[in-house]
Amino acid sequence: MNLDDVRDDLSTVLFTEEQIQARMLELAAQIDKDYADKSPLMVGILNGAVMVMADLSRALTIHCEMDWMAISSYGSGVASSGVVRILKDLNTAIAGRHVLIVEDIIDTGLTLAYLAGNLRSRNPASIEICAAFRKPEALCNEVNVKYLGFDIPSDFVVGYGLDYAGHYRNLRGLGVLSPKVYS
Ligand code: 5GP
Repeated sequence: MNLDDVRDDLSTVLFTEEQIQARMLELAAQIDKDYADKSPLMVGILNGAVMVMADLSRALTIHCEMDWMAISSYGSGVASSGVVRILKDLNTAIAGRHVLIVEDIIDTGLTLAYLAGNLRSRNPASIEICAAFRKPEALCNEVNVKYLGFDIPSDFVVGYGLDYAGHYRNLRGLGVLSPKVYS
């Protein structure tokens, strides 16, 4: 789905597919370099990180493995609940592994703060965070994102894996959802 297909539902277009892809290539080049001899375990957070995981992992020239976690987030609303619950855990033991958490967006940072703490307690060799997008609120919490796609305003956005009530995940770009869609 292209931005033009849902243009009326968006109050602003933030990034086109091309802009996102170009940034993902830059991040992949950085990860290639940092993990040259390490074969990282990339941990994607379902469902939102599916697109960023697919693009990032395929842009790498090094070997990597992938695993997935599912945690509770917004449901069908547009405000952070702050409640984090593991719905699906990893299939892989991560002790001694170089773990790279792959997340779609960081809003308050509550989700990642919990997740990073949880994974750290399993004794990985290292743990870093990659996120496609970050909102300003995240800066209030100490979320150390090593690989960041873009800083964005604190509006509710859809596209590139991010949904509203299950829709827009397959939108290639990223846009601010018009309040008329959810009010
Ligand atoms: P946090 O715990 O950082 O406040 O929230 C992170 C999670 O909330 C993300 O993984 C994502 O699922 C959801 N989220 C935060 N902001 C947005 C947004 O603007 N749009 C959508 N669709 N989901 C968001």
